Amino acid sequence: MSTTKGTTKQLARGPLKQLIKRQAKQLGANLIGFASVDRWPEQQEVKPEYWPQSIWPWSRTVISLGVQIYLPMIETTPSVVYSECYNTTNRILDEIAYRLANKLNQLGYRAHWFPRDCYGDISVLVKKQEAAFSHVFAGKYAGLGTLGLNHTLLTKEYGPRVRLVSVITDADVVPDELVKDDLCIRCQQCVRNCPTEAFTPRSDRLIADMAKTRCAGYHQKLKNEFRYPCGVCIAVCPIGEDRKLYGAHSVTEAGKEHCQNFGSANAVAGLPVPEDAQQIIDTTIR
Ligand code: SF4
Ligand code: SF4
Repeated sequence: MSTTKGTTKQLARGPLKQLIKRQAKQLGANLIGFASVDRWPEQQEVKPEYWPQSIWPWSRTVISLGVQIYLPMIETTPSVVYSECYNTTNRILDEIAYRLANKLNQLGYRAHWFPRDCYGDISVLVKKQEAAFSHVFAGKYAGLGTLGLNHTLLTKEYGPRVRLVSVITDADVVPDELVKDDLCIRCQQCVRNCPTEAFTPRSDRLIADMAKTRCAGYHQKLKNEFRYPCGVCIAVCPIGEDRKLYGAHSVTEAGKEHCQNFGSANAVAGLPVPEDAQQIIDTTIR
């Protein structure tokens, strides 16, 4: 713990919030929201063992941080173009969260981050679909958006095309208001376009039933082909300022196919390995 602990912990809640927001923005976060840990028991949507305070009892605030997924890249999915975009957002998210928690530590607060995704390999999700912590609910409780039919967090800025990470801290920060009205318009584009038909809409609630094993199994296949993840259900969603920026389709069908024909197993399916390349493989890889 930093030697500055005694003085900096006296920062008022408002100025502390502004300081954290400034830091997170400088580190590259597009979206920043604050949730009191009280929101988990208040809302009663997440099982108690998943609450931040059940894991770290000193937690007071969860800072939810989001970075955008570029619409023109995800619209080429499944492709190595989107795969690289996804991998880069993951690296950036973990780095932003690591550095922000570090800054809070220097100011004298307890803080660390819950890594985004947080599973070792997609093959694990085929067998056990739940993660240890839900960044989607953290984002909702931090006022970044509302849950959509497709189980993602829909935001005003990027619809569901945002990836999330959470910083957990004992800093007492003024929480953000929840978004009151559902952003999901129940258009069912996500349902109709899912390649595994994973969603079954329900009449009694907004969130659809989801065959998570089917979705995870498809992801396993895409991973083997170097064009993971899928993301069609978030690519097609009409919600978001980014959609207004790029329009209904930011990529042509021919352009999408073009991107899918390079850099992944899809690009080489059925093609023989050239003789000279085979020679290199035979002599160098044993
Ligand atoms: S595609 Fe339509 S139904 Fe699906 S999450 Fe978006 S707005 Fe909701
Ligand atoms: S990620 Fe793909 S397979 Fe999974 S639910 Fe969304 S559209 Fe369906």
